[in-house]
Amino acid sequence: MRHVTHFIDGKPVAGSSGRQGPVFDPSTGQQQATVDLASADEVDAVVASARAAAGEWGETAVGRRSQVLFELRNQLRSRSDELATLISSEHGKTVDDARGEVARGLEVVELACGIPALLKGGFSENVSTRLDTYSLRQPVGVACGITPFNFPAMVPLWMLPLAIACGNAFILKPSERDPSASLVLAECASDAGLPPGVLNVLQGDRLAVDALLAHPGIDAVSFVGSTPIARHVYETAAAAGKRVQALGGAKNHMVVLDDADLGLAADAAVSAAFGSAGERCMAISVAVVADSVADAFVAAVVERTGRLRVGPGHLDGIDMGPLVTAEHRDRVAGYLDGAAADGATVVLDGRHHPVEGDPGGFYLGPTVLDHVPTTAGAYRDEVFGPVLCVLRAADLDEALAIVNASPYGNGTAIFTSDGGAARKFQHEVRAGMIGINVPIPVPVATYPFGGWKASLFGDTHVYGVDGIHFYTRGKVVTSRWPEAAHAGVRLAFPGTGATEPAGGAGGR
Ligand code: NAD
Repeated sequence: MRHVTHFIDGKPVAGSSGRQGPVFDPSTGQQQATVDLASADEVDAVVASARAAAGEWGETAVGRRSQVLFELRNQLRSRSDELATLISSEHGKTVDDARGEVARGLEVVELACGIPALLKGGFSENVSTRLDTYSLRQPVGVACGITPFNFPAMVPLWMLPLAIACGNAFILKPSERDPSASLVLAECASDAGLPPGVLNVLQGDRLAVDALLAHPGIDAVSFVGSTPIARHVYETAAAAGKRVQALGGAKNHMVVLDDADLGLAADAAVSAAFGSAGERCMAISVAVVADSVADAFVAAVVERTGRLRVGPGHLDGIDMGPLVTAEHRDRVAGYLDGAAADGATVVLDGRHHPVEGDPGGFYLGPTVLDHVPTTAGAYRDEVFGPVLCVLRAADLDEALAIVNASPYGNGTAIFTSDGGAARKFQHEVRAGMIGINVPIPVPVATYPFGGWKASLFGDTHVYGVDGIHFYTRGKVVTSRWPEAAHAGVRLAFPGTGATEPAGGAGGR
């Protein structure tokens, strides 16, 4: 059976803890590999490797770092089909969908190639007589990234290109459910000329995570995953004095007003609810639809959903693959058991949808629930599966109140032909990512990504300018090179436009 190892100091390293976990092929239900699960001692070793590499890498000329990133981009592009096939085989999503995630991850590598420009500081000449002030940003040291199963290449690529480009060493702790993509990323980085130890991959579960969060050799923690774990990561790492960004779960609402193009809205709802079997942090799991068009909208959604082909993600023409594990499939199916008792109307039950492929696969077809009360489990919880809840609202104000009452605030969307309504929505809605006639608003790499409320703990989003700030510390230097005799000791605090600056102990 295939064995998924760590990647430390530029090479694959088999685990020494004796702990391993299974990696399944979700389309057959069979185990296809074992993955090493690190012990606390292995965490110590990987942090030591990263710390040893961080110093020299942080001193490496920024232009050289940029060249390595350019080469990383080439390596990843040349292996993107292999990566997509591997992701599909462990996650279950279609190969086409996996190609999309690799492409979105590559955008962040391309952003990081521009690191010489991104790290430029500011300079103010003559803030006082012969006194200049300037700012610069330096690497934090060693950062780690703890990532979820649902984007095994894209989410690590939200983090590691910028962390490395900024001059840090980076330890990736991928999901133990689909760990193999992480090794391809590390091989590409190594082949691109990244020095050993600057990017290490440590396979593991909660034991490895907790050891990383407590380790004094880790300076910054980036996390993406479910809300309870995001909260735990944020609280634990912050208490240990680290900077943390912890992105959590989601319950993304899509509002459909009565003037929306219903065909466009239905296409968007079906694509965003059932793409990747609903296992996306930007999946639409709730549609809040204007009363007057709700029946027509539901009919259009059901008509499209009924045509979806469910089966193994590597087969041509398949729209939706299996869920990631049997436990997860059963948990999602459990919401269908309770839906009617909770007061919802089960319009399409995914348990009866035809499936092409091995009956042992972790399949669940697309499900549509209508008239869902906000008290229903399927509405309240992050289901993270192919289940679309439809709620009805009298007008935009009522729809906004429903969206804003959700404890989550990752993303949301509005479908309308009224620019004024769209503007009111974007202004008043409490979420980080907003789509206007667009269902999954994952932005381009030049704009940061992140949510509000229980969807993000910490104050910086990932990548974009936020990524640069997160992976660097700022310095502001105030400098004077005396040309002639200085003014001597002066204890008074200098006012604006003072002709002579304060001495060393002064400040402005
Ligand atoms: P998860 O929270 O179960 O796992 C995420 C990571 O945390 C994994 O590396 C896992 O090994 C580790 N982990 C799991 N349990 C732990 C514990 N008790 N203590 C310490 N570490 C632990 O998430 P998942 O199921 O892999 O991914 C799906 C979740 O991720 C969904 O909630 C989804 O919304 C969220 N997600 C959010 C975003 C975003 O941008 N906000 C993006 C992708 C996924």
